[in-house]
Amino acid sequence: MSGPFDRGLPAADAGPGRVPDDAVDPRAGDEERVVESALRPHSLADFIGQPKVARQLDLVLEGAKRRGRPPDHVLLSGPPGLGKTSLALIIGSELGTAVKITSGPAIERSGDLAAMLSNLAPGDVLFIDEIHRIARPAEELLYMAMEDFRVDVVVGKGPGATAIPLEINPFTLVGATTRAGLLTGPLRDRFGFVGQMEFYETADLERVLARSADLLGVELTADGSAEIAGRSRGTPRIANRLLRRVRDYAEVRADGRVTLEVARAALALYDVDDLGLDRLDRSVLEALVARFGGGPVGVATLAVAVGEEPHTVEEVCEPFLVRAGLLARTPRGRVATEAAFRHLGHPVPRGGLALSGGTADPPSDGASSQTLFDA
Ligand code: ADP
Repeated sequence: MSGPFDRGLPAADAGPGRVPDDAVDPRAGDEERVVESALRPHSLADFIGQPKVARQLDLVLEGAKRRGRPPDHVLLSGPPGLGKTSLALIIGSELGTAVKITSGPAIERSGDLAAMLSNLAPGDVLFIDEIHRIARPAEELLYMAMEDFRVDVVVGKGPGATAIPLEINPFTLVGATTRAGLLTGPLRDRFGFVGQMEFYETADLERVLARSADLLGVELTADGSAEIAGRSRGTPRIANRLLRRVRDYAEVRADGRVTLEVARAALALYDVDDLGLDRLDRSVLEALVARFGGGPVGVATLAVAVGEEPHTVEEVCEPFLVRAGLLARTPRGRVATEAAFRHLGHPVPRGGLALSGGTADPPSDGASSQTLFDA
């Protein structure tokens, strides 16, 4: 049976469609979560990269510790695999408090949430992953809990129902979301600190890999590490996963050391190309370029063309394709860049691409060229 404190992560994280153990899928499967916990950083000092979020969070936590009060509620947003859960756990360990973990889709009834909140000890951290998927009645209950540390427990039904206010212990909510734009205004406003997680630079991923190789007892050369980091889509989860796959290859086909040659051979075997694109990324780009002449095309149409759910294409493929400069989100739809044509080995159309000329049409699928996660 699943309870409200269950991670609910396979459903929340994986969504329908894509099998989450593709080599470069940024979402984690169940088994991977177990392996990952061994590689998680446990303190801010151990947490690599994300300098802006880490520095700001450090101040927030330090201030709270000095005042002897729980810090403001924290919202972490960004694509999967960038360290949101790790940071939530770090917040707990930096404050020396327990972290209770749940996820938006796992909270089906507001009563579940009320029970969870009233069980928190003073100063505890409540981590709600995929908070944008929380049911509306539970969200409304959360408003008062976040603001006044109170919940209304409704007793009875119909006209005779009464709401009994119940005090709860002061706590810190840490919400994580891959779609900050889907959060309602009242919920977003109740977070005192919002950290926008960015994709990692290659140098930071090399540091993540060096740390993980140490923990796993893998011998990793500098050029082997650079090769894996360069194909990890700016995502530590993918870097760690590729390291484990390359290690398997190194142990079976070579002398166990992860060198440049071993990394290249293993990554070719796992179908990870030199930009870190996998089959789904490539088929999205290929459809955009070959079937739709480079776009613009709506994300729903594009998803049908590759046999995927639109939200998988939007949340899993697109953030990195945009970041890599291969795809753009415009008000009229998705558009391939010249780099995408070149990467796939297609000639760039002579008349130029649809990228530059926007129209005033309203977005057909909520797309915006400005926001990466809010489309
Ligand atoms: P998210 O919650 O954003 O999906 P996680 O926090 O679960 O991401 O991170 C996935 C894995 O990536 C973690 O198990 C951890 O090993 C690794 N990781 C993420 N961020 C970092 C980091 N900054 N430094 C070291 N390892 C990291």
